[in-house]
Amino acid sequence: MSALEVDVAIVGGGFGGSLLAMALRRAGLRIALIDRGRHPRFAIGESSTPIANLVLQDLCREYDLPNVAPLAKYGLWQATHPQLVSGIKRGFTYFHQEAGQPFVADAQHSTELLVTASSSDQHSDTHWLRQDVDEFLFREASVAGAACFEDCEVAEIDTNGHDITLRLVNASLPSEEESRLIQTRFVVDGSGEGQFLAKRLRIQDLTHELRTNSRTVFAHFANVTRWKRCLETRGIDTTDHPFDCDHAALHHVFEGGWMWQLRFNDETVSAGFVQDLNRGERPDLSAAAEWESWLRRFPAIGEQFANAKIVRPKGGLRSTGRLQRKLARAVGSWWAMLPNTAGFIDALHSTGIAHTLCGIERLGRMLIRSLGRDNLEPQLREYERCVLAEVEMIDLLVSGCFAAMGDFQRFATATMLYFAAATSYERARLASVGEFRPAFLLADDNRWVAVVRRMCDRLRETGNVKQFEREMVEAIRPFNVVGLCDPASRNMFRHSAMPEY
Ligand SMILES: Cc1cc2nc3c(=O)[nH]c(=O)nc-3n(C[C@H](O)[C@H](O)[C@H](O)COP(=O)(O)OP(=O)(O)OC[C@H]3O[C@@H](n4cnc5c(N)ncnc54)[C@H](O)[C@@H]3O)c2cc1C
Repeated sequence: MSALEVDVAIVGGGFGGSLLAMALRRAGLRIALIDRGRHPRFAIGESSTPIANLVLQDLCREYDLPNVAPLAKYGLWQATHPQLVSGIKRGFTYFHQEAGQPFVADAQHSTELLVTASSSDQHSDTHWLRQDVDEFLFREASVAGAACFEDCEVAEIDTNGHDITLRLVNASLPSEEESRLIQTRFVVDGSGEGQFLAKRLRIQDLTHELRTNSRTVFAHFANVTRWKRCLETRGIDTTDHPFDCDHAALHHVFEGGWMWQLRFNDETVSAGFVQDLNRGERPDLSAAAEWESWLRRFPAIGEQFANAKIVRPKGGLRSTGRLQRKLARAVGSWWAMLPNTAGFIDALHSTGIAHTLCGIERLGRMLIRSLGRDNLEPQLREYERCVLAEVEMIDLLVSGCFAAMGDFQRFATATMLYFAAATSYERARLASVGEFRPAFLLADDNRWVAVVRRMCDRLRETGNVKQFEREMVEAIRPFNVVGLCDPASRNMFRHSAMPEY
């Protein structure tokens, strides 16, 4: 059987694998892109951020991807690819919910937090309906010349000799006739939770080192009442909100967990409850019974979902075990993992898409410049160090917030660590000339890492919230470029949007 010869085989054709395939193709490398599923397929992880869009735009410039570039801004996306379902995300909104109680608000917004990310709808971040976006990018990778395989799994890897040989089998028809050989110089694992290489190479699992310990139950729904309408129906004034609170990654936050709501412009909503497993066991309930129990527990959310109908995925609600993963290795001499394969923490702070894009940027350059050269391996080690440090940083930022859920002002103060890291990264990147090298969320800045560690430890201690707020103001001062923690804002942050570019 003759083998298809490529330079890089990418296992996993989510948006990450497809974008990397396009970038490498543009630089002239021969690529195979392999997915065990078939597009369009449901995927979770939809909410982009200013960093995600900045990196996406830079990737599109660097690799001349004019058809993909419009996805970096809501207005351009609507003008260019309106058939791909998306949603406006002007920022992050958080509302405190008490079990068994209606939602209450006050003039100080002590149960609300709105942090602006984009200054206008035109320049706004987006929610990606992943089945549309991932299919589009997979097809674009094929148009760019990648050899694309769907419904295919790698049955064998032979690493003897100079090249690596993969034997693909068609996942739906696993017979010898359906197998195909691919000879490659390098393998990228973009399989995410599929953990393609981790299973084969028996890479040590370091998940137990992570502080965050959460799980979720989720689906996409139609007929979810807008939260703004719920507030207005209750006579709660929303005129202080810097943007429409539903045009956001909307979070309901409560003791022991939180809920996300991401509204698409076809009026469907991605929604999920996330449970903190450090504070309670996974309930022994079906996904549907669990969903109903969450809605009964938080009556204001129950009202929002009173007429809701599940529209995706086909099988209905999905219920997970622990979400986190972290591996001891992210690279070897002939392979590397995309960030979401090496580690994942939680949906809080919407870090996944941006982290993946940062990994593509770094790994893409390395492979283009150094594949086949002696200097690739030290660069891979540096990539590994960076990706794993980023996973640890996200774990600190997220676990700090989990520790504060239930005490909303403490939680709001905890989120400031994430917003300080994100806005500092955005501004540094916008001001930089040439290649931007710092790690995602300043994970390689020792001063910043020390601040986050210290404040996350403080978050686990009980104590006076005002004192904690004062400490936070001081701790983040060198990184506070947008007026975070300003009491005059009364939890309504309107000057934190990324400058238009
Ligand atoms: C509940 C939840 C909510 C999230 N919310 C957000 C959010 O709001 N914002 C955000 O930025 N991020 C979010 N994320 C993270 C986000 O989902 C990931 O960062 C993103 O999906 C990474 O994309 P990817 O293309 O690298 O991998 P994936 O999307 O995981 O794609 C992996 C691909 O590999 C394929 N595959 C798997 N195993 C194999 C195999 N053995 N062989 C061949 N193919 C294989 C799969 O079919 C899939 O197509 C969330 C994650 C979770 C779990």
